[in-house]
Amino acid sequence: MTPDVRDRVERQSRAARPPGGTARGTVGAPGGGPSGGAGGGAADGAVTGAGRVPESTWARALELISGADEIALACHVSPDGDALGSMLATAFVLRSLGKRVVASFGDRHFAVPRLLRFLPGQEMLTPPGDFPAAPELMITFDSASPDRLGLLRSNVAAAREVIVVDHHPSSSGFGTLGLVDPKASATAMLVEQLIYRLGGTLDRDIATCLYAGLVTDTGSFRHSSTTPAAHQMAARLVATGLRTDEIARELWDRSPFGYLKVLAAAFDRVVLDGALVWTYVTRVDRAAYGLPYAELEGIIDIVRRTDEAEVAAVLKEDDEGAWQVSTRSKGAVDVGALCAELGGGGHHTAAGFTSHDSVEATMAKFLELLGKVR
Ligand code: AMP
Ligand code: MN
Ligand code: MN
Repeated sequence: MTPDVRDRVERQSRAARPPGGTARGTVGAPGGGPSGGAGGGAADGAVTGAGRVPESTWARALELISGADEIALACHVSPDGDALGSMLATAFVLRSLGKRVVASFGDRHFAVPRLLRFLPGQEMLTPPGDFPAAPELMITFDSASPDRLGLLRSNVAAAREVIVVDHHPSSSGFGTLGLVDPKASATAMLVEQLIYRLGGTLDRDIATCLYAGLVTDTGSFRHSSTTPAAHQMAARLVATGLRTDEIARELWDRSPFGYLKVLAAAFDRVVLDGALVWTYVTRVDRAAYGLPYAELEGIIDIVRRTDEAEVAAVLKEDDEGAWQVSTRSKGAVDVGALCAELGGGGHHTAAGFTSHDSVEATMAKFLELLGKVR
């Protein structure tokens, strides 16, 4: 890093404040005070959504970044809008600061899911095979544990410094520094903060990446994770001139014809078992229409509508034959804790796990655990 860039980083870190923030104390509520909660005061984390990260931690992150020439970025496997959007936004900013940037995710079949192909900056992505084996500085996004990094698990284990940027309550505390705030609606919210502190500004490309993260994880500002800070951040992003209508269509309002047929198969099998509604989609269902796994992401949002059910689950067979299980709760059941028992994780109302058992065995275990918490 050139001395003038380092200087700028250091200057900015002292002066950092979000638009609308009033002072440094506003950015990081001392002692992790109330932050980001709906209906809370306008001060503290409500402005930034990142009130849980102490100032000293931000300062250390800036120090690590300013001291590194090459920075290796990784987000979780089968990236969603928050994972990939957060990583690409960071890549844009680090590159503008003169850093060499490597960005990847550890899927065996390395491909950006179709619904995220509209995101700018994909030319900055590198297949996981070309990722540095032992990065000097690695930053992970939206991943609560090294497992979520798939093939890049060993790279993170060998990295000298690892900054974890995340908002999962189940975050396992891996890495050498955590920019982790479970009250943040999305990892993108922490990235926005990081960008300001690095002296970066939001352009339309960066804002598009962050907006994809924010709307994905708040379900378009419908989920309980939506805070005043989420709306305030959205206002800053939309002000860059991004096309909210086009982003919404790319994310939720288009699919290949085969999707309708696969939906038909899934809904034909849907089961209401007490307070649980669930179904599954096989590889064979998809193969008949050449439908990629990533296209299944939205099915859970239809299944979870069911009035009679408190919890919804969709088992999706991936290309390797493992079951990726998406679960949702209306609030009475903590599916994050439940999925953690099954080796996965997530949030109170949205979580998942991976199963290598049959559908029947997977659901028997899930129902047993659900019976215990109900
Ligand atoms: P999804 O159902 O894929 O939208 O995921 C919902 C939430 O659960 C996300 O916050 C994920 O980070 C988390 N999650 C999903 N699958 C897994 C898994 N296999 N292991 C850990 N967390 C998961
Ligand atoms: Mn995610
Ligand atoms: Mn997220």
